[in-house]
Amino acid sequence: MTKTNINIFEQLESEVRSYIRSFPTVFTKAKGYKMWDEDGKEYVDFFSGAGALNYGHNDPKMKEKLVEYIMNDGITHSLDMGTTAKAEFLTTFNDVILKPRNLDYKVMFPGPTGTNTVESALKLARKVTGRTDIISFTNGFHGMTIGSLSVTGNSFKRKGAGIPLHNVVTMPYDSFVNDGLDTLEYLERFLDDKGSGVAIPAAMILETVQGEGGINAASFEWLQRIEEICKRWGILLIVDDVQAGVGRTGTFFSFEKAGIKPDIVCMSKSIGGFGLPLAITLIRPELDIWEPGEHNGTFRGNNHAFITATASLSYWKDSEFENNIEKGSKKIFNFLEKIVADYPEIQGEARGRGYMVGIMSEVEGLSPKVASEAFKRGLIIETSGPNDEVFKLFPPLTIDDEGLDRGLAILEESVKAVVIGSKEPVTS
Ligand SMILES: *Cc1c(COP(=O)(O)O)cnc(C)c1O
Repeated sequence: MTKTNINIFEQLESEVRSYIRSFPTVFTKAKGYKMWDEDGKEYVDFFSGAGALNYGHNDPKMKEKLVEYIMNDGITHSLDMGTTAKAEFLTTFNDVILKPRNLDYKVMFPGPTGTNTVESALKLARKVTGRTDIISFTNGFHGMTIGSLSVTGNSFKRKGAGIPLHNVVTMPYDSFVNDGLDTLEYLERFLDDKGSGVAIPAAMILETVQGEGGINAASFEWLQRIEEICKRWGILLIVDDVQAGVGRTGTFFSFEKAGIKPDIVCMSKSIGGFGLPLAITLIRPELDIWEPGEHNGTFRGNNHAFITATASLSYWKDSEFENNIEKGSKKIFNFLEKIVADYPEIQGEARGRGYMVGIMSEVEGLSPKVASEAFKRGLIIETSGPNDEVFKLFPPLTIDDEGLDRGLAILEESVKAVVIGSKEPVTS
């Protein structure tokens, strides 16, 4: 077998490519938490497709169902016509996820990506309330189309819009200024005071743990108070669970433990289960005032993803899966706190919730170095935050102890290498 020339990507693919720059190799195969490249080198995947592969790569049960469906000439494309695959997904999602949690959301299928569900949520909130503005939060990330960019914090990504991003007011997220400042007292003053320059918005949109913005986890109390404020002012609460949902923070929805009930929930990434594109927008029934076809998308009925999504929900039929995530997350967080304590040179802080965690380092440029040392040693991790100051751990939720131990050991070696490297005198 001839080896792929990695320069192909440089020659033929746009400059916009990014992950290949951090992981300069050509991958061929993946299974569970492992990936292999063309040289046969094995990698432990603590990246999980940025949260699109919460169940790992090529889950055997999902794969079997999908192959069977394809071999039987099951419907692949159908816009939003009725198919058995969609009916089974809707029924299973209702029985396994919504009903046991006392939720009665209507399910909307926008286009199959995260930014599609966010756009649909913003549009619906404006339609329902007749208001124009949205409150977003510092370091929020919601996608790359214009509406989603308008509620995204990152200046580099915002600038890419090339036009002014209107009708949004950004407020400070929990602990944005410092742990002492009550950001919600500040927010409420703006809503309260007619001289604040801020109109009552249609909605607030937030992530309960900010994935791209630096693994900032809002406290449950902060989230509860947000819900109260929204209720008091008749503002809709949109939780963007595209990255933090589907078990990533320990429960199916990231907001369960906070005890809140958002008006609209955005999901994509791992909702398809297998890494296939699928997005859903969950809507409180009273708000479902869409006219038929008022929002649509050619690929809003991805039947292959319905098949794997339905199969993935078998992980949620009892509490074993959740209990395992809880056990694993304690182990990971203890490890991160130990790294922070054992390597004071990195000036680190352990962050996050569940399997959505990382270490923020005050040392400029350190986190990307840790990620690149990890890659050399066969561990895939990425960085997060406005200055890439966080190295982010996103193991698949299905990973076993052996895989977790292996990944964490490589991570420690990588931190050690960066710390020692920074002390060595530069030699030519
Ligand atoms: C990834 C992400 C999106 C955008 O999803 P795409 O599928 O890339 O459009 C939106 N919101 C959050 C929180 C995300 O992490």
